[in-house]
This record gives sequence, structure tokens and C-alpha cells, in this order.
Amino acid sequence: MVDMIDVLVIGAGPTGLACGIEAERAGLNLLIIEKGCLVNSLFNYPPGMTFFTSRERLEIGDLPLPSLNVKPTRAEALEYYRRVAERYRLPIHYHERATSIERRDHFFEVATEGLWDRHRTYQTKSVIIATGYYDLPNLLGIPGEDLPHVSHYYGDAHAFYQRKVVVIGAANSAAVASLDLYRHGAEVTLIHRGPELSRHIKYWIMPDLRNRIKEGSIRAFFDCQVKQITRDHVCVEKSTGETFHVEADFVFALTGYHPDFDFICKAGVELDPATMKPLCNPKTLETNVPNLYLAGVIIAGKNTNEIFIENGRFHGKQIIADVKRKLAEP
Ligand SMILES: Cc1cc2nc3c(=O)[nH]c(=O)nc-3n(C[C@H](O)[C@H](O)[C@H](O)COP(=O)(O)OP(=O)(O)OC[C@H]3O[C@@H](n4cnc5c(N)ncnc54)[C@H](O)[C@@H]3O)c2cc1C
Repeated sequence: MVDMIDVLVIGAGPTGLACGIEAERAGLNLLIIEKGCLVNSLFNYPPGMTFFTSRERLEIGDLPLPSLNVKPTRAEALEYYRRVAERYRLPIHYHERATSIERRDHFFEVATEGLWDRHRTYQTKSVIIATGYYDLPNLLGIPGEDLPHVSHYYGDAHAFYQRKVVVIGAANSAAVASLDLYRHGAEVTLIHRGPELSRHIKYWIMPDLRNRIKEGSIRAFFDCQVKQITRDHVCVEKSTGETFHVEADFVFALTGYHPDFDFICKAGVELDPATMKPLCNPKTLETNVPNLYLAGVIIAGKNTNEIFIENGRFHGKQIIADVKRKLAEP
């Protein structure tokens, strides 16, 4: 058990760091708990990726993000957030997962689990949950989804040179992965349950993908659902009920991710059953549990395409203004 903390932030993603910076600036006693490394989600993005956001919109703590091009690469972003954490001397406990948040009379007890089964409990006056959504893929719930050649995360294309790869989904991640795989010599088939590519695909990616599909470089099936994945093919059902097989050495099911709703529910936060959006004050981002705040993409519930780094980075200011106001109350 340690001394009472003013603000405990769960998650050292860009949003959690921005919250930490505001808490530091306000002179509050702060601790950030991170289950992986610094900006763990970004660390796990494809190694060769370039952000779709221009550099100034990824900046936090009024520190400029230097990058060769307007849109930074993953490596540039990782270096930037390392510098930010260093500049503000943010107190972060890495590889320590928050497992529960229990409300006591006027404070919270946050339990964590670290490496080597190390368990700790912290007492804090307020909690900010900034845990993002990248740890939990939207599963298809079909047989074969757990086979070793199936992944919900895309990485480096080289390993798939001259291999047959099926990409399931038709939003931004699926579009980028399909193009990258094709350009690295994979034989790509895109399968999507909807009638066309998602309108959320970035405007500079869309024509490239459309043209590759049109010329037959990337095969695409729309209005089709993957029903099963086997060792060497996927079984697909058309909206007409007709079925067919597509050969596949590897399968990427890139059907999105969702926040850990269970974790926030157990902390007492109420969710809208339709959108899974947590109940929270739009001005202060405080939930229905007093002194428990949410920051970043987690606020969007299932609609994860509403909040990005570019807007989530401002949540810290809103929250810490409220925390300060409350701490100043007698
Ligand atoms: C491939 C890809 C490209 C993207 N490109 C862009 C872009 O160009 N521009 C943009 O604005 N957005 C982009 N996004 C979206 C953006 O990355 C996310 O919206 C953003 O990371 C959300 O920030 P966050 O801090 O809320 O969550 P995250 O960055 O996911 O951070 C959450 C952190 O919480 C930690 N955590 C989770 N659970 C626990 C726990 N129980 N205990 C302790 N720690 C925990 C995680 O390890 C993680 O480090 C992209 C997303 C993807 C998948």
C-alpha cells in the first residue's frame, strides 16, 4: 500500500499521457499504470505504418513532433512520446495491469497485477481510465478463428510474399493491409459482408484500393460472410445463400476492436446498451461514479471511429480542471 494519490491514470497511451501532463502541471500527486510499454497500442501497430494524421494533431504537452514528412511514421511517433514522458517526468509503472477499481468512502482502491504475479493496491482520490480499444478485437465468432494462421492484428508484409492471404473487413485497417500485402507480393483476397468498401477509408487510400480491385490485382468479394476458417481455406457464404471456398495460407480478420466494457462496468460505470457509450458528463468526462473519469476512445463505446489521438488528447484538460476544482473544495 502506498500514500494517497490525487490522480491515478490507467493506460499510458497518448490520451493517458496527456492526462498525466495536465495533472503534473496542476501540481497533483500522480501515478500512471500501464500494462505494457509506453504507448503500447502504437508500439503494436504495423512496423512500417504512417499515421493518417498530420504531426501537429498528434502533439501533446505543447511539445512539437519532429518528423520528416507531414504525417509521422510509427517510429517517429514512438520516439516523440518517449521524449514527452521524459520531458514531463511522468511517473509510470510499466507492465502492471489494473485489474479492479473499488470505491471506498472518499477514495478508490485500484488493484494491479504486474510481472511475476506481483499484486499491488493503490489508494487514490480520483481515477482516469484511458485504456483505449486495441487489446480486444471484434471477433467473428466462427469455427477456425483461433487457428494459428489467423490474426486480428496486421504487422509486416514481407512474411506473406508469394502466399495466399485473405483479408476480412473493408475499413481502413483492412484496406491498408490489403494494399501493403499486394505490394509485397502476396496474393490477396478481400472479403466483406457489406455491399462495398467502407466510407471510413481515408480519401487518399480509397482510389488506390478501388483501382487495384478493378484491375484484378486484389480480388474482392462483397456481400459475403466468412462462415468458417480451415487450415487451407475459408468458407464463404454469399447473401444469396450460395457458398464457396477461397484458398488461404494466412487470414487477417481486421474487423475492428472495442474497449474493455467489462472493466468499466465492474467499476460501476453505466453503459448505453445500444452504443455501449459510458454515461459521462461531456464537460468534465466524469462518469456516474463520482471522481471516476474516462478519457480517449473509450468514451465512444462501440463507435471507435469517433475519437482518435487528435481529439482524445484534449480530454486531460477537461478532466484535470474538474479534479482540481473538487480537490479545492473543503
Ligand atoms: C493501425 C492504426 C492506425 C491509427 N492511426 C491513427 C492516426 O493516424 N491518427 C489518430 O488520431 N488515430 C489513429 N489511430 C487510432 C488511435 O491510435 C487510437 O484512437 C488511440 O491510440 C487512442 O488513444 P488512447 O490513449 O485512448 O488509447 P491507446 O493508445 O490504446 O492507449 C491505451 C493504453 O492503455 C493500456 N491499458 C489497457 N488496459 C489496461 C489496464 N487494464 N491496465 C493498465 N493499462 C492498460 C494499453 O496497453 C495502452 O497502452 C489508429 C489506430 C490504428 C489501429
